[in-house]
Amino acid sequence: MPRRLTGFTPSGDLHIGNYFGAIAPIVARQADAGTVVFITDLHALTLEHDPALVRRRTLEFATLLLAAGVDPTACLLVVQSHVPEHTELHYLLECVTGYGEASRMIQFKEKSRRQERVRLSLLTYPVLMAADILLYDTDEVPVGEDQRQHVELARDLAQRFNSRYAPVFTVPTAVNPPVAARIMDLASPTGKMSKSAPSPAGVLRLLDPPDVLRRKVMRAVTDPGTTVAYDPDAKPGVSNLLAILSACTGTGPHELATGFGGYRELKQAVADAVVATVAPVQRRYHDLARHPEHVREILRAGAERARDLAAAKVRAAKEAIGLMPA
Ligand code: ATP
Ligand code: MG
Repeated sequence: MPRRLTGFTPSGDLHIGNYFGAIAPIVARQADAGTVVFITDLHALTLEHDPALVRRRTLEFATLLLAAGVDPTACLLVVQSHVPEHTELHYLLECVTGYGEASRMIQFKEKSRRQERVRLSLLTYPVLMAADILLYDTDEVPVGEDQRQHVELARDLAQRFNSRYAPVFTVPTAVNPPVAARIMDLASPTGKMSKSAPSPAGVLRLLDPPDVLRRKVMRAVTDPGTTVAYDPDAKPGVSNLLAILSACTGTGPHELATGFGGYRELKQAVADAVVATVAPVQRRYHDLARHPEHVREILRAGAERARDLAAAKVRAAKEAIGLMPA
């Protein structure tokens, strides 16, 4: 049984891209894969952040993941900072990471260019991500293109540590999430829908009220012409709408395209499908959100189970690298 790990950073609001690309696949496979689901709150501190907002979103993300069907008895659902072994292993892995290796990360270069003051943690965050992955003997990490290089780093660090000291770590592999699940921004459909998008206009948030979702879909950017066809290069806007409808209904985007006479009709159908998909999740979310203590109890139990695994791994790594046991 392969062990998989997916992290969600509470640095913005969860959207339907996260839902179709990450949450729904976790729920679909949770019975037969050992899945670790993480709220990576430490990663949210690598850029300018609002402390109250990170704290609030951490609970909100946990509540939403549960509402979307993540089963905390089948998965390990944890908040990263509740398991101090992450930061402990982070340091040990820093001792096998080259400075040049860390500064070559494309995401660091891109994100640091946009910052006036760059936090040192932005440079070292891929090493923390490697610790997240290696701590649990993860076999597979489903990631998009933007995170592939970070999983490669985790592989390199695991192999280097294993060959230099002792075979402590499982070497992880990056795996592709389902291609159809890459949802693009409705307002600029050549870029992906993101929590960190500069404008919320093209982002369908999981907690947007139905009328807001409908309005955003109806205002989605389309393409010249009037024919509904699935062709992501020539018709990125319309193809994204078809991809969303396909993710909601399970019917292929090419087949769906033949059923619409025009863009407005397509948008209407997408709006209905998104609202129908999100409504039960929102209903469960609002029920659960009335009992935050219950959610926190689930997170405490998750952290306890995670610490059992993590502590053994850190102990082995410390011993291998030359630290004397207490
Ligand atoms: P950020 O802008 O902060 O990077 P994000 O929206 O990209 O936010 P992440 O926290 O980086 O979200 O990713 C969480 C999970 O959601 C990952 O598994 C990622 O592959 C998936 N994901 C993110 N955006 C999309 C998208 N537009 N379509 C499909 N999957 C997505
Ligand atoms: Mg991302």
